[in-house]
Amino acid sequence: MTEHTFDLVVLGGGSGGYAAALRAAELGKSVALVEKDKVGGTCLHRGCIPTKALLHAAEVADTARDASAIGIRTTFEGVDPAGVRAYREGIVAKKFKGLEGLVKARGITVVPGEGRLEAGPAVRVGDDLYRGSDVILATGSYSRSLPGLDVGGRILTSEHALELDEIPARVVVLGGGVIGVEFASVWRSFGVEVTIVEALDHLVPNEDVALSKGLERAFRRRGIQYSLGVRFQSATQTADAVTVTLEDGKTFEADYLLVAVGRGPATAGLGYEEAGVTIDRGFVVTDERLRTGVEHVWAVGDIVPGLQLAHRGFQQGIFVAEEIAGLAPVVIPDVHIPKVTYSHPEVASVGLTETQAAEAHGVDGIVAYEYNLAGNGKSEILGTSGIVKVVRAKDGPVLGVHMIGDRVGELITEGQLAVGWEAHPEDIAPYVHAHPTQSEALGEAFLALAGKPLHTL
Ligand SMILES: Cc1cc2nc3c(=O)[nH]c(=O)nc-3n(C[C@H](O)[C@H](O)[C@H](O)COP(=O)(O)OP(=O)(O)OC[C@H]3O[C@@H](n4cnc5c(N)ncnc54)[C@H](O)[C@@H]3O)c2cc1C
Repeated sequence: MTEHTFDLVVLGGGSGGYAAALRAAELGKSVALVEKDKVGGTCLHRGCIPTKALLHAAEVADTARDASAIGIRTTFEGVDPAGVRAYREGIVAKKFKGLEGLVKARGITVVPGEGRLEAGPAVRVGDDLYRGSDVILATGSYSRSLPGLDVGGRILTSEHALELDEIPARVVVLGGGVIGVEFASVWRSFGVEVTIVEALDHLVPNEDVALSKGLERAFRRRGIQYSLGVRFQSATQTADAVTVTLEDGKTFEADYLLVAVGRGPATAGLGYEEAGVTIDRGFVVTDERLRTGVEHVWAVGDIVPGLQLAHRGFQQGIFVAEEIAGLAPVVIPDVHIPKVTYSHPEVASVGLTETQAAEAHGVDGIVAYEYNLAGNGKSEILGTSGIVKVVRAKDGPVLGVHMIGDRVGELITEGQLAVGWEAHPEDIAPYVHAHPTQSEALGEAFLALAGKPLHTL
């Protein structure tokens, strides 16, 4: 056995792990980053980046199909799956190369192989032991399924769906959360008959209900079918098709079933519990400063209960690296982290929904305002509809910002600053939004909440 000693050993090189490694190295620490697959993790190789490339290809397909409506002559001849794959893989390869270069340039030692936590703290990889003054656990997540629903054949996870080299005729998507909705959106743009099955009463059920209803309307207009409020019962497959049965007896037949019912934490069999780390339903339990309770062992990313998002992983990784370095970073609660669903149309939000705000402040303690994108020039030009909804405490700060419409994901940063800084609409109202931009819709909402609406009554 060979022993190696570092200031910091990071187990898992995804968004959370590599961000921690990069920041710690920047702060002068010696860092080992243990990764069994590819640095970049789910987000770069199987998640955020490839799916957003697909969504862009889908947007181009829609644009080509609909261009004559704005006087541009195009013919949409179809989708070339190999071409889309080459485009998507090219983007991932470029980003991967850049990340590898950055990791190398920061002097981080990448240890290839499967690691296991040991007391000390340390991480064992084969016969080598990597001892760290601190160890960060960042092993990420995997696609979950439901009891009795075996993935394989025509029953896919998002990883398999990305690898499909055909455009199917019909797909059932199990789960109306962000991953399910994004795949449904892509497939519809590629001409697929799509049905989403969601057990809860709405699509994107964690969002403000105004956004869920807006997305349901938009998807209905796009011809995306959905079944809400009825649970999945079973799925059977033959060589050619899969049949999905719901608890009310309704059945759907399709070429494929995409299982998008959430992601489970990848923590089993990695020595966590043996080393004294507390695990709850598979997740690593931490305090708000991401300490696990075992001295000098920290956790970041999807294994920590809460929003499973890449930028939360980045933030947590940076946070722990700075905490170890004694910089006392500020805790960012999940409610201040922006969420975007990159479907057509997009859904973006930060802070409390109207319902959550009313629970926290009382129905009379809040004011909610909805600005319709129909009044926004740039949205009209782009041919998108939707809303910007801002929730504030009565005579108090902005508590939540919720938006639906094409490209609104790019606007959520302003909402995040407003919520994070506890700004009052009156503080923001004097700041000018360039015309014509979609950001003016947010400006209009803040103006209205400050009692001086411009283009609305
Ligand atoms: C289809 C899809 C689309 C998504 N889109 C978005 C999006 O648009 N925006 C967004 O913010 N988030 C998105 N996400 C979520 C995002 O990918 C995750 O939140 C993020 O990757 C979590 O980072 P992480 O570091 O916790 O884990 P991961 O990225 O999963 O990384 C964990 C790493 O640890 C490695 N590992 C695990 N066990 C070991 C071991 N024993 N030894 C060595 N290495 C190990 C794995 O190989 C992996 O590389 C998406 C996810 C999916 C599946």
